[in-house]
Amino acid sequence: MVNARAIFFDRDGVLVEAPTVNNLPKSPKTINDIKLCKGIVKFCKFYKKKNYHLIMITNQPDFSRKKNSKKNINQINEYLKKKLNFDDVYVCFSDDDNCIDRKPNPGMIYIGAKKFNLNLRKSFLIGDRWRDIGAGNKANCTTILIEKNYNEKLRYKPKYIVKNLNQIYEIIN
Ligand SMILES: [Mg+2]
Repeated sequence: MVNARAIFFDRDGVLVEAPTVNNLPKSPKTINDIKLCKGIVKFCKFYKKKNYHLIMITNQPDFSRKKNSKKNINQINEYLKKKLNFDDVYVCFSDDDNCIDRKPNPGMIYIGAKKFNLNLRKSFLIGDRWRDIGAGNKANCTTILIEKNYNEKLRYKPKYIVKNLNQIYEIIN
């Protein structure tokens, strides 16, 4: 199917809440620390029914920074894959911006595109930070930023900026 479409989701701050320290988001450490973002279960069901592939792409450099284990991180990812009925979940553990998979590089999007034969121009990316938007833009996806007013410069320009998931229903149809 040449016209297969996907929605790529960032994890922290989009699927699960990301607690902030100094107004910057942190990754939850273990499965006991996670809290699903409001409305995400309904959102994913809605777009699954519309035949979108649902794919998570997450940077998790805390592993490389020795702040968390792959086991903890993968446990959260596998839980979310099941809970939200995702087609796939991709994680980049690298802390090196030269890594093709580390957002803002688009490697994880290309892995999904190849596996599911996706038309990226008809696909979307939802994120809460500039790295997500960079990856989506580079892969020619339509990018949507959920604005959280973090204390960082938005280094890539999203196609849309929204306040919450509810506003995305009007964008993706
Ligand atoms: Mg995030």
